[in-house]
Amino acid sequence: MTDQSAQELCQRCKKDEVTVNSRKEKFCSKCFQKFITLKQRKQMMSSDYYRDIFKMLYKDKVRTAQEAEQQNLDSRILVPLSFGSSSLVLLDILNDTLTEQSHQHKGKTGFSVDVLTCYRHEEDLVQIKENINSLRERYQVNKGKINFHVLSLDSFFNSCGNELQQIVLHYQEFSSMGADVTNFDTIDQLLKKCPNRNSSGDLLYFITRHVVKKYTLQHGYKAILWGHSMTRLADEIISLVVKGRGAQVATSLDMHSFDSVYGNKFKNSYPLKDILLDEVDAYLYIAGLDQLVIGYDARDSLLINKVKQDNSHKNIRLVRNMTINELARKYFNDIEGDYSNIISTVLRTGDKLAEPEFNQGGEGKEESGKCSLCLGNLHSDASKWLRSIAVIQGYPIENEEEREFYEKWSQSAVGIENAEYMKLKDSIWENGTYVPLCYGCIITMNGIKNRNVKWPKFNNTELNDVLNEYVLSEEDEDEIIKAH
Ligand SMILES: [Zn+2]
Ligand SMILES: [Zn+2]
Repeated sequence: MTDQSAQELCQRCKKDEVTVNSRKEKFCSKCFQKFITLKQRKQMMSSDYYRDIFKMLYKDKVRTAQEAEQQNLDSRILVPLSFGSSSLVLLDILNDTLTEQSHQHKGKTGFSVDVLTCYRHEEDLVQIKENINSLRERYQVNKGKINFHVLSLDSFFNSCGNELQQIVLHYQEFSSMGADVTNFDTIDQLLKKCPNRNSSGDLLYFITRHVVKKYTLQHGYKAILWGHSMTRLADEIISLVVKGRGAQVATSLDMHSFDSVYGNKFKNSYPLKDILLDEVDAYLYIAGLDQLVIGYDARDSLLINKVKQDNSHKNIRLVRNMTINELARKYFNDIEGDYSNIISTVLRTGDKLAEPEFNQGGEGKEESGKCSLCLGNLHSDASKWLRSIAVIQGYPIENEEEREFYEKWSQSAVGIENAEYMKLKDSIWENGTYVPLCYGCIITMNGIKNRNVKWPKFNNTELNDVLNEYVLSEEDEDEIIKAH
């Protein structure tokens, strides 16, 4: 069978040997890369806003030569680089675009790219720095047009300008209050309070997303180019629905509105939204980027010549230990290939959704606003609804036996923890202020130890407090920072 496929020719150019099989078509490496690149570029040209960013602008009816030049210089975008396959491929295609423009326009380009990597542990930094250096070498021709930045998520809490609050959820009412705090938990401490990988994954995602967007706001980028593939977006849609966060699907896919939570200054773009994750992974191998992946296991399912040993027994997490996101991903991974149209149907349906109408009703309270934990728009009073469906009133102690059990319980670890929670709750209910939470976040908070988190306030002071970058120690990078 290998012999047969080795002789087979690409269906597009009819010249080169077939290396990839995707969407029932057989490609050579070159034609496959072109196929993927064009899909990404189509998204990068999907509106006037993005065209103005990515195109090389010259003098025309609406702008002078100087204005065009300035606009090219101002067209700066941010790529959050996790070192998974998608963000690496996205960045690599951007580098090719820059190289092409620079050839066509005498060294000039229509835009420049800043790359941001967020990390959790100091020990991760070694590998990240090493891989960034490899990328710098790879992108040598576009030196100055692609710049790398690294940020510690823990340092983010340090640089909140003391704008932190402790949010506490009421165990019976499902209402939530918050009060100022000056000390904070490290990311590790925060995640340890979560009952499962689902909630810790969510909290980590909220923080990382906020850090990326805050960085974007502070540095005036025109857009964030997220690496999400079609598969990843589809699993995001399914997971949001399952987690009771379905109302956020429309906002989370919106490429064409300015991000209203961050002052309408930039847009969020998903240039890989027409590309399946398996295709991204195939591109990764073909482009020789697989050595640069960190913490991700790229699949070679579309490659004619498999690059991996059979390691299907490796890295398999038990289904019961998977997060909802991982389950959705597993589902889509399993159907990619034969049923990939299901993935695009999920995405197309999600894309058609609109935000729910704001619910202004109920006790004269206006329910518009943002969730204090995930920053999602609020459409209804979720705590009120939860109160109406749940029975959570305690049962009074009636006899000596029950009192004895109660005493024993109060002295147990759970009892002591509960007493701590009651004390905290009472004090916040006395001194705090109302902070709204969405349904999904109430459910998350209800599982977190002592139902509280120390969380940024997301106010203007916090947004303007400058994030401390880790300075990368390459000579020219040092100079750039000093020059500011
Ligand atoms: Zn070909
Ligand atoms: Zn929320």
